[in-house]
Amino acid sequence: MTSSIAEKIANIRQELPAGVRLIAVTKGVSVDAMGEAYAAGVRDFGESQIQEAAVKQARLLDLPDINWHLIGHLQSNKVKKALEIFQWIHSCDSLSLAQRLNRVASELSLKPQVCLQVKILPDPNKYGWTIPELLADLPGLDRCDMLQIRGLMTILPLGLSEAESLTVFERTRTLSLQIQEQNCSNLKMQELSMGMSGDYHLAVRAGATMVRVGHVIFGDRSP
Ligand SMILES: *Cc1c(COP(=O)(O)O)cnc(C)c1O
Repeated sequence: MTSSIAEKIANIRQELPAGVRLIAVTKGVSVDAMGEAYAAGVRDFGESQIQEAAVKQARLLDLPDINWHLIGHLQSNKVKKALEIFQWIHSCDSLSLAQRLNRVASELSLKPQVCLQVKILPDPNKYGWTIPELLADLPGLDRCDMLQIRGLMTILPLGLSEAESLTVFERTRTLSLQIQEQNCSNLKMQELSMGMSGDYHLAVRAGATMVRVGHVIFGDRSP
């Protein structure tokens, strides 16, 4: 017998330490399934695409207390739309994007919560700052004062062993500590958005505060 969405969510919650936020990743997932997750207590939903999220949001207006998290790459021409529909942007991946978010947030009188996406290992298929690039951009990020910069986000490259995965998550945490020591008053750095269906156990061991879990809740996505 297959377990329900509510049972799967309950199982995951049991494994998460208190204070770790479960973000249900719902790209490719129906609004009905999202409604089941909501009924099971989920209030944080992660989407990769603006358009898909906008359509779902319009259909879920009767569920007003959802936090919407953008977890996919954001093109600069979609910044305004993204700010209108997401409270959290996990995928801020360059200084120029941060500056644009800052400018448009100011125009809209919004103060979005933002994570900085980092690449701990080289990965040509992923967006994000390398460690030296991020350290060099900290002063510029610190001036983006409409953004509530809350922490780091990372996605593992494919094909790592458990030990290698844990190392990447731990390196992300030490990078966050290193940034906290720079006395950049706008960089709060309490959050670590890391861990997906296959690796959230490891991410939590390394100090994740937000895990982004899709297919172990909702099953395999339709293509
Ligand atoms: C799709 C996605 C997830 C969730 O992946 P699952 O393996 O289905 O848990 C998490 N984070 C990001 C950035 C994603 O694109």
